[in-house]
Amino acid sequence: MGVWKREITIVLLSLFAIVIVGFLTGALLPLLMAATLIFLFRQLQQISRFERWISRGGKVDYPKTKGIWEDIYYHVYRLRKAEKRRKKKLRKLLEQFRDFTGALPDAAVILGEDDVIEWANKAALKVLGLQPADKGQRIPNLIRYPEFIRYLKLQDYQEAIMLPSPVNNQITLEVRIVNYGSGLRLLLAQDVTQVKKMERMRKDFVANVSHELRTPLTVLKGYLETLQDMDDGGSALLTGSLEQMRGQTERMQHLVDDLLMLTRLETQQRRTVCVDVPALLKQICNERGVVENLAGRIELSLASDANIHGDEQELRSAFTNLVGNALKYSPADSVVKVRWFEDGGTVVLEVQDRGVGIAPEDIPRVTERFYRAESNHARKTPGTGLGLAIVKHVLMRHDARLHIISELGKGSCFSCHFPLHRLCD
Ligand code: ADP
Repeated sequence: MGVWKREITIVLLSLFAIVIVGFLTGALLPLLMAATLIFLFRQLQQISRFERWISRGGKVDYPKTKGIWEDIYYHVYRLRKAEKRRKKKLRKLLEQFRDFTGALPDAAVILGEDDVIEWANKAALKVLGLQPADKGQRIPNLIRYPEFIRYLKLQDYQEAIMLPSPVNNQITLEVRIVNYGSGLRLLLAQDVTQVKKMERMRKDFVANVSHELRTPLTVLKGYLETLQDMDDGGSALLTGSLEQMRGQTERMQHLVDDLLMLTRLETQQRRTVCVDVPALLKQICNERGVVENLAGRIELSLASDANIHGDEQELRSAFTNLVGNALKYSPADSVVKVRWFEDGGTVVLEVQDRGVGIAPEDIPRVTERFYRAESNHARKTPGTGLGLAIVKHVLMRHDARLHIISELGKGSCFSCHFPLHRLCD
């Protein structure tokens, strides 16, 4: 404001002097015109100097001037300097980011619109076989696995997918996409070859051990049955011991069978056929009724005649486990309701009991392997803790979901929801 005041005062004083001289000489108008022209010319000169300075980037020190122009130069110079400092900071940050992503062992690729590669780190070049020149290319044109292209198109990136590395198919990659910003996506690929190898070793180990235990168990069971037949009941201790041994061998056999079933689910291809679910349920419920000598405990309702594309043996195992649990974890005189019905967009198998129920904190965990709820009743009931893990696995392989509603002391309701695309025509 001070500068402006000074500028206006100088102009007014000059005008005043010109007016006085003009009156004295009698040439007021020509003098005024001449002064205006000189003033205009000087301003034009300043503008042209400023334009030259700014067009050179305004980097060098600004020319020496006086008055308002000095202020203009100073402000622009300060703005330029601040911008320069900001740029330097940004460059440093960018360098740090580049170093950091360069040191990352996982591949990272930024995808723009239309799946175009905008940026990739060093690991992406190594693991995914991308080249620096691939920037601007569409990634599905470079990584051509159908599974990857489907994953990109689906735009549902909740789960990661496994792919062999395009550079070396001995390397397994876990590929995940994360949405961020507007329309940008970050693709991350991690080498999980070792993890997968360990997982395969674990599966092989469990499969081999379970398989190897099967024969000795059958032999033991056979001898035990013979011994029990030979037992004349003379020694209560012997009779009791034999009975306990039989119980434990049976338990072990169930465990081995369940482990083998889980291994089969993890490693083998499904044998998909059109499974007549109502017939299968009738069979399971009747078998159960006879085996447990509890005919009449199961109330079967078949409101739908829908059949499912799937593996019959797997579905039988899952449904048997659910019905078996409902009978096991409820009083001997209570009824277990088994329903097969259509519900909007799904076909549902519901198994409902009026049994011991499951505590809220146990519900999310009961499908874990070997997890058995802490409640007294559940602990006393024999079981392997693998049944619901099998159910979960089978349903996953059939695109179905398991819902559990349960209340301690009131009972449980397990329902399997099959999507309509699983129905046979
Ligand atoms: P298991 O029955 O052999 O212990 P599961 O995997 O079938 O193993 O079940 C895991 C646990 O879930 C059981 O130990 C039990 O505590 C609980 N559970 C399963 N089904 C029921 C049910 N219908 N009612 C109450 N608890 C159940």
